[in-house]
Order: sequence, then structure tokens, then C-alpha cells
Amino acid sequence: MRTNTTAVFIGGAGHSGSTLLGLCLGSHPQVFYGGEARKSIFFGNEKKPLRKRMCKVCGPECKVWNHLVVNDEIDLYEALSVRTGRPVTVDSTKSLEWLEQQSALVHARGAKTVLLFLSRDGRAVVSSGLRKYPEESATEHAQKWRSQMEGTAAFAARFPGTVERVRYEELVTAPEATLRRLCEVIGLAFDPVMLDPFSSEQHPLGGNAGTQSLLQKTQTKAEGGSVPISGSKKDYYSAHPKTFVLDLRWKRELPAQALADFEAVAGALNAAYAWDVAEPTPEERS
Ligand SMILES: [Zn+2]
Repeated sequence: MRTNTTAVFIGGAGHSGSTLLGLCLGSHPQVFYGGEARKSIFFGNEKKPLRKRMCKVCGPECKVWNHLVVNDEIDLYEALSVRTGRPVTVDSTKSLEWLEQQSALVHARGAKTVLLFLSRDGRAVVSSGLRKYPEESATEHAQKWRSQMEGTAAFAARFPGTVERVRYEELVTAPEATLRRLCEVIGLAFDPVMLDPFSSEQHPLGGNAGTQSLLQKTQTKAEGGSVPISGSKKDYYSAHPKTFVLDLRWKRELPAQALADFEAVAGALNAAYAWDVAEPTPEERS
């Protein structure tokens, strides 16, 4: 009998809110969110930086990831479900090769597979990319976004299980409705704890250190725990309330030329993803 009944994959492009979505799902008592679980293959590889080889919250001493045995009989998700007692796993690895391989494997073993195809306005994705990797041009970031979104759409069309689209912007502006819908797709009863993802115990590999910095610090070990953040990222997240906030920094930060470069490469594709809902005024908010 398989303990891991359901393997959920969050596909799409990076910088689209998958860490936040993963933390929300992983707050559910039946769900374990492993972050970018593919990074577990680097555990024994000392050529990779340590931060890529450890739980982002616990550091190297993690009760979930340490000495996890994966072999020909026990796949990664089964191993995680057995260890955590949570039958549903979530993996936010974006690599299509990995998603293809792992979803086929667990599907063949009788687990339900769900692909959550996460998207975000491409202009926001490129703006985040430029913030993190300023040495690459806006055109390069736009090309990467387009190629990843097109590749994920093609993969979704041949995915063996259920595919559900979800937008970052709807997750943060209507979290309860969005998470209720996703629970239904996954086969879970909605649990209100999912609306408070930063108070839960989590063990992600990889992912957005800024979003992870919002997690309550009680779980973090003094030594070797959570990956530190600095610079503008630290400024942004230290002022961030521990709740859902729509990040529209791109509207202030993306230079006009970068926006024009983005439109030339990915404007047509972004028509389906653009989030042009006006921000509420302070009066409307209250
Ligand atoms: Zn951990």
C-alpha cells in the first residue's frame, strides 16, 4: 500500500509565487511541501553550495530531509509521506525534465498526480529576475519566461493527471477562494490554517528566501538555520506583514526600455497573464 496518495507539482516560471503557494498548501495537516524537491539529489554533492543542499528553515539538521532513503522501490514522494505522515506531497521544482520523469513514475505507481500551473504577470517576473540577476538583460529574462511558460503549457497538455491553472495575483488577492478551489482539485477538505502559512512548520528546499523569511522563527535553529537575506530584499521583507500582499513592485521598478524589450519578446503571450486590475485606493481598502 502506498502512503503517498497524491503528488502535487507546482509548474510554471520562477519568481511567480510558488514559495508562497507551497507554504499555503504545506500548512494543511495532510500536506507536506518539499520546496524544489529536485535539490535533494544534490545532498551528497559537495560541489554544490550548501544552501542548495539543505532544508531552508532548519539548515543541515532537518528531521525530514536528513538521511531520507530514496531508491528503486521508494520514490521521493513516498519517502516524504512515510516520514511526515502526510499523504499529499507538493514539489515546486520547475525543471520540465524532472516534472516529466517524476510525474510519470508516481502515476505509474498509482498515486494521483496534480499539476498546478502557476502564472504571474510576465512583467513582474522579469522585474524580479532583473533584481536578482541584473547581469542579464530584460530581453534575456523575457525570453526565459516565455520559453518556460510555453514549455510548461506543452507539458501540461500531456500531463498524466489533473491540471489546474492558478494565478499568483488571485492567490494573494483572494486567498480563501483560490485555496478552496485548489483543495477541491487535490482532493482535500479546505483548512483555514492555510490562510496563515507563515505560522506553520515547513521544510522547503530552495525557493524564495524572502518569502521564507516571513516564517515564524521558532522552528529555526540558532546555528546553520534559515538562509539570510540582504539588501533591497531584506528591506522589502522586513516591512512585509505576515499575510498576503500583492507584490506590484515592477510597476515602479521596471525601466521603460526594459518594458519595451519585454513587450517585443513576450507581449503577445503576456496578454493571457497581464494583471491590470487597478490597485484599490486607501479609501476603498478600508
Ligand atoms: Zn527542515
